[in-house]
Parts: sequence; structure tokens; C-alpha cells
Amino acid sequence: MKGLPIKIKFTLWYLAVLSLILTVLGTGIYAAMSSRLHSSFDDSLKKRADQIVDFKDIIPIVAGGAFEEETGELISFYFYFDHALVNVSHRQIEIPAGEECINAVLGGENLYKTIELNNKPFTLYAVPYSPEPKRIMLDKFNIDPNNGAGRKKVRFTNPKLPDEIEIEKAVLIVARSTKDLDRALTTLFHILLYSLPITLFLSGWGGIFLLNRILRPIDDISQTTRKIEETDLTQRIKVTADDELGHLAQTINQMLSRLEKAFTRQKQLTSDASHELRGPIAVIQAEASLSLQKKRQAQSYRTSIEVIATAAERMSGIIKQLLFLARTDSSSQSLSFKSIDVHLLVSNLCDELDVLCQDKGLNLRYTSKGTVLIEGDESLLRTLFINLLTNAIRYTPVGGHINVDVSIENNMAVITFQDTGIGIPPKDVPYIFERFYRVDKARSRESGGSGLGLSIADQIVQVHHGRILVTSEMDTGSTFVVKLPVIS
Ligand code: ADP
Repeated sequence: MKGLPIKIKFTLWYLAVLSLILTVLGTGIYAAMSSRLHSSFDDSLKKRADQIVDFKDIIPIVAGGAFEEETGELISFYFYFDHALVNVSHRQIEIPAGEECINAVLGGENLYKTIELNNKPFTLYAVPYSPEPKRIMLDKFNIDPNNGAGRKKVRFTNPKLPDEIEIEKAVLIVARSTKDLDRALTTLFHILLYSLPITLFLSGWGGIFLLNRILRPIDDISQTTRKIEETDLTQRIKVTADDELGHLAQTINQMLSRLEKAFTRQKQLTSDASHELRGPIAVIQAEASLSLQKKRQAQSYRTSIEVIATAAERMSGIIKQLLFLARTDSSSQSLSFKSIDVHLLVSNLCDELDVLCQDKGLNLRYTSKGTVLIEGDESLLRTLFINLLTNAIRYTPVGGHINVDVSIENNMAVITFQDTGIGIPPKDVPYIFERFYRVDKARSRESGGSGLGLSIADQIVQVHHGRILVTSEMDTGSTFVVKLPVIS
């Protein structure tokens, strides 16, 4: 069963359960019908016997053949005369009830019994009968007392009877053939028996049909996912229904979209990183081979080594940033979150970097209303604020102003870096948080930028469940606002 396809497994289970249910149901129906028919048959026999019992002088009528019987019924009376059992039956058809049964009824019992008469099944009902008057003239029987109709042998010859006899107690027996009843029950049995495989077949077929319909979307899902390769994540599963399977297909499609994005980003990052690293490597190679071409003066070697060192430093910076991004990307990164006063952190950073501003002739101003506590990783938050502040310094011309502010708004710590720098063209604003994106490649590279600072900042903000927003106007300045949840 284990290795079988789900369709076959389901069908086998379905058919097994269905046949069990149908068998139990069929047996139940048959048993209920049989008991109902038998009990209404028995009731009608009893009713008929109760009717006849009320006619106290009916024995001579039966014996005389004047009894009006209902269709298919037999009537017999039994009584003892002179220690011998005498039988008087309508149409002289004696109901073979058996002496034991007759004695039991004479003892006061009413009973049913199944017998066979002329190879046909019969059910009889026997009740005690007290004739009135008790003395019965045999000539009223309208028969020859010794050899006539109406007298039958009980075991199997009636004794010679006198002209007049006295009957104290008799037994009335009413019997009807159960042939029709048995036939009806046999027909019902056959109907149930033959309908079982037909029902099984039809519902099995219906079940398989339904199952195929239900499983079709799963087939679609598995076929599409089989087609998806690492290199081609553009395939999507057709969503045809708004049910659980439709939702599953949607979820898989969303996962594929995320994977596709991640793969594209990864590819882009690899190509951008190699492109970025190619520059300094080319410089190192060119400088080294130039130096090795011929013997040079010590100063010339020194200049070459300085160029190589700068290029290597640049490469090392890029690699460090890439590693940082990879680490904050992966979930295995263990972040040490603790309570941090952003006001203290940013104000210290401003103090540390003020020297750079002074070098460049910039005016750095820090404002805050005091302690702002957030839950965060101090080293990551330092990197975030350094990146934003160094960008402001890098892209603000001499004599410009940089204002840094820390405040609280709607349970969020709001850290604002506003500069009067060159600004960002509106068309570039949506992309500046992408890895290696630079507005002006040459100028950014010249000033030491790698295009990774803002994407690192964005990633750190995300790790802290915050938001980073930017507004900028060309030649007027830019404002970067970081919002992080405060400790409540
Ligand atoms: P980079 O290392 O090149 O500065 P970033 O990711 O930090 O890379 O920034 C991406 C781009 O956004 C930069 O190339 C720059 O053009 C622009 N940018 C970032 N900050 C500022 C700012 N304060 N003023 C003007 N332009 C900025």
C-alpha cells in the first residue's frame, strides 16, 4: 500500500469502506423489511383467529363446508373425544399442527408455528376455542359420522363418533401460506445483492472521476514545479480555483516570485561585485607589470606601491561590505539585541565625525530632547548611522550644513540626517537603496563610495523592524529619516 499512487490508494480505501457501508446498509434494510413483513403477516393471522374465536358455534359450519374463508387461508379445529384427537377442517384440508402444539394450546397458550403443507411453507396461529353450546349434534355436521367429509384422522383416523358429542375445549388453527411473503423477501434479497456491485461500480467510478478532478490541480502544480529549474524561475502555476488548492498554487507562485527576485538579486550582486572588483584589480595588475617592466627609481616604485595599496584598500572595503551584507542577510546571523539610547549613540557619532566635517568646512549640528530607548544591535546601528552621516558629509559641498536630530513620534524613534548637499535626481531616488546603485558612478567612486552604503543601511533598518525614508531636491539637499520602534 505504501508505494502506491495516491489515486489507487484512495480508490482501494474508498471501495473497501463503501462496500462495508453498503453491506451493513443492505443487511439492515433486509432485516428490517423481513421483520416488518413477518410481524404484519403474524398480526393478520392473529386478527383473523380472534374474529373466528368470537363465533362460538362455528365448528358445525366448518364441518358442513359452509364456512366463508378469506383467500389463501386454512382453518382447522382440534379436540379430544374419548382420548382420541378429532380434527374438523375447512375443505377437509387438515393443518398438521402436531399433537404437542395442540396440547400446549389446550393448556391455555396461543402460539405461532411454521409448517410445511403440500411442499409449501405455511405459518399457523393456534388459539384455545370454547364452543357454545357444548353439545354438538353430529347430523348438524351434515356428514356421515363414521366416514364423511369433515372428519379426518388424527393420527390419522377419527374414532367412531356417536351422533351427538360434547366438546368442552377445542383448538382453533388458522394458517396461511408464506410463499408470497418469502418470494417478496427473496426478491428484495436479490435486488440488494445485485445492487451492491452496481452501486459499488457506479460510486467507485464517480469517486475516481471526482478524485481525478480534485487531483488535476495537484498534477498541474507538480508538472510546473518539475519544469522549474534553478536558471529559469519565470514559470508560474495556473491558478484556476479559489479553493485550498488554488491557495496552495498561489502560495507556491508567491514563493517562486520571491525566489526569482532573490536569484536575480544574487546574480546582479555577483556581476556588480565582479565589475566593482575588476577596477582595482586592473589597477594593481597594470601598476605591478609597469613596475616590473624595467628598473626604476625608488620614488617611482613607491608611487606604484601607493597606488596598489589604495586599490587593495578599496577592494578590501568592498569585500568587507559584501560580507557584512551576506551576514545580515542570513538568518544564522546572531544579533545581540539590547536596550540602546539612540540619542547617546548618535550624539557620540556626531562628535566622532565632526572632525571630518571640519576638514571639509561643513557645519554639523546635532539636536535632541534627550534619551530615546530602542531595542537593537549597537554595532549594526552604529554602521547605519555612520553610513548616513558619511554620505551627508560626502555629498555636501564645502560650506554646507548637516543637521542631525533625534526625537520620538508615535512610539517611534525618529533619526533625521538633513544636508544641504547636491541632492539626488528624482529618477534615481527609487533605486538608491539597491546594491551597487550609484547616481553618478565616477563621482561616487572618486569620493570613496561603493554603492553599498545605503543598501546596508536599509538592511539594518529592516532587521530592527523600522523604516527608512528619503526626500531630496537637486542642488538643495537631501533628508534621510530613520524610524525605529521605541521600547514601550
Ligand atoms: P555610495 O557608497 O556610492 O555613497 P550609497 O549606497 O551610500 O553608495 O549611496 C547610493 C547613492 O545615493 C550614492 O551614489 C549617491 O549618489 C546617492 N546619495 C546617498 N546619500 C546621499 C546624500 N546625502 N546626498 C546626495 N546623494 C546621496
